[in-house]
Amino acid sequence: MNEIDRKTPRARSCPICGKPVEPAFKPFCSKRCADIDLNRWLSGVYAVPSKGEEAEDADRSNESEASKE
Ligand SMILES: [Zn+2]
Repeated sequence: MNEIDRKTPRARSCPICGKPVEPAFKPFCSKRCADIDLNRWLSGVYAVPSKGEEAEDADRSNESEASKE
């Protein structure tokens, strides 16, 4: 009946990575990208580059304060 639906004239692209959008994950291409966008919203950091694995290790090199007597 509706063959027109099979071909979408303008396929939008994922705002995260630019890949074609999957209907199941609209408006993203995958759940991963949806998660990424959600995270951005939740943490409110839309201007921070994607480096999130530093600053947690820096606190572990100091153990000399535990033995003060
Ligand atoms: Zn994507």
